[in-house]
Amino acid sequence: MLKASRLNVDIGPARIIRDGSFEIETGQMVGLIGANGAGKTTCLRTIMGLIPPVSGQVSFDHFELTKTPAHQRATLGIGYMPEDRRLVPSQTAEENILTPVWSVGIPDWQDRLAWIYKLIPEVEALRERPSTSLSGGQQKLVALARALMLGNKLLLLDEPSEGIAPVLARRISDILADMKSEGVTVLISESNTQHCEDLLDRMFMIERGTITSND
Ligand code: ATP
Repeated sequence: MLKASRLNVDIGPARIIRDGSFEIETGQMVGLIGANGAGKTTCLRTIMGLIPPVSGQVSFDHFELTKTPAHQRATLGIGYMPEDRRLVPSQTAEENILTPVWSVGIPDWQDRLAWIYKLIPEVEALRERPSTSLSGGQQKLVALARALMLGNKLLLLDEPSEGIAPVLARRISDILADMKSEGVTVLISESNTQHCEDLLDRMFMIERGTITSND
């Protein structure tokens, strides 16, 4: 359902993704594993349409994502959790989670929010808190909840366990396991498989922009 074919992506004069191809089936949880600077963030941002590729295609459920305008892409059920969380500091946790509702409109947002709070009850407990008062790990949970607001079909998670306490990293793994049982397809980037190995159906390795499968 998500397929990248011969993707080449440049940032400035440098080629960051080189002829990258991979496929993810519906309901799978797939890892994109590589060292810092290997190109994981660039790959996810390209899938999200935030960076145009020089060549190659990304398709999702028969839509050619590299040619789908942003407003239409927002309705496809794809959510993205950036590595650096990017919460709006002046807003509460819940206001951050609802940002996609205001920006693209989600008719069934109340049901979605209830589903998210069922998956991540600790975020409901934080809903009134200003996002600046949250710990780094709590902010990751809020960013994950926000990604789920749009991403009920496909979630792209950029290093969800990076830089947080081990207990929260384990909690995120548990949430991912629950999401998997709900049928959400997940592409998760990590620098190693320490926190996600048991969850992954498949793994792609990325090294200096070259993607290989470990099958
Ligand atoms: P990290 O875990 O450090 O984020 P990554 O695997 O996600 O690593 P990317 O962030 O995709 O890697 O970066 C891949 C390469 O592209 C790196 O060499 C990085 O320096 C370079 N790069 C990324 N963004 C920019 C930018 N805005 N300008 C210049 N070079 C960039």
